[in-house]
Amino acid sequence: MNLPTCREDALELDGLDEIAHLRDRFILPEGIIYLDGNSLGPLPAATPERLRRVISEEWGSDLIRGWEGRGWMELSGRVAGAIAARIGARPEEVAVADSTSLNLFKLLAAGLGLRPGRRVILAERESFPTDLYMAHGLAEMLGPEVSVRVVSRGELSEALTGEVAVLSLTHVDFRTGEMHDLEARTAEAHAAGAVMLWDLAHSAGAVPLALDESAVDLAVGCGYKYLNGGPGAPAFAFVASRHHAELRSPLWGWMGHTRPFDFSTAYAPAEGARRLMVGTPPILALAALECGVESLAGVSDEVLRAKSVALTELFIALVERDCAECGLGLASPVQPSRRGSQVSLSHPRAAAIVAELMARGVVADHRPPDLLRFGFAPAYVRFVDVWDAVGALRKVARGMRG
Ligand SMILES: *Cc1c(COP(=O)(O)O)cnc(C)c1O
Repeated sequence: MNLPTCREDALELDGLDEIAHLRDRFILPEGIIYLDGNSLGPLPAATPERLRRVISEEWGSDLIRGWEGRGWMELSGRVAGAIAARIGARPEEVAVADSTSLNLFKLLAAGLGLRPGRRVILAERESFPTDLYMAHGLAEMLGPEVSVRVVSRGELSEALTGEVAVLSLTHVDFRTGEMHDLEARTAEAHAAGAVMLWDLAHSAGAVPLALDESAVDLAVGCGYKYLNGGPGAPAFAFVASRHHAELRSPLWGWMGHTRPFDFSTAYAPAEGARRLMVGTPPILALAALECGVESLAGVSDEVLRAKSVALTELFIALVERDCAECGLGLASPVQPSRRGSQVSLSHPRAAAIVAELMARGVVADHRPPDLLRFGFAPAYVRFVDVWDAVGALRKVARGMRG
């Protein structure tokens, strides 16, 4: 790529972008460059009308009859099918329910159940904190024979011993954007006899995933980041078909029962990943999530990924060229194949820079102690946004050396 030398060059890149039209599927406020879709995706253009209809025409008019007459009962399965298609899974391998944290709890417990005799959950220090908290909380509940082994990334292979039941990892590091080799790590877990559990919160909707082909056992992911489902949107859980017969959820909710409306006193788990459902599905939130997943419809992950890589490469190159004197360091991997859809920079005054960028309409975020995080969601971020964001960053960071 020839590095743009002026704003018009960046606009030209947008003119050549074959998925530039996807931006029209979102409502983005005027005057804002949104580089935080990795924390909360923007509002899809279809969502307000869909929610208005669900509220007034379905709930407001049909009341309880909505469960059957409006297909509410099938909604979570339908969204699960759409997410399954995005992550390279079969529809019956995905459930949409609860939060990522809660799904982690269910799958960590289920993973221990798949490896009786092994009592260790292996995780890495770099994991998203909730991944570690849920594992420690589960271990405390299960008693002294279950333990959580937390090591740094470089020690993972060595720590993957014969006692490990589940290897639980965050695919894309939320701080640095560094991405694990999902297939290689999964194979490593299998070679050690462990079950592989991935947290795909920063991957689904941004990074190509082929969970079945990669032989992943279990996974969870987030509905409100790159899937644009709205704040606190339901999360998803994936269970490979080969584990369906054996998989036990620790939470026996009636919605995970094979026939909830028999109101039987005896629990009988539903087929497939659906047994991970617990309580009554949140219809408003699911309707918004369906719009979010549909906002990426018709575009392959490979096309999204190619643009995401082009955006992050451009950002890094422009920061290197134009912000050389600003005291910023690159905290993300240089190699695009090892990066998710974000770039992190380091600076001792990261928080102040992010606040000042925000005042200039560039929305990024700060992660302690010294990271600035920029998310490049390929569906709506433009090349000219990258140009303008680096321009703002140069102005702000120059005034804040050291
Ligand atoms: C955002 C995020 C979560 C969020 O979990 P919730 O239960 O939805 O709050 C979990 N894991 C990772 C890696 C995340 O980035």
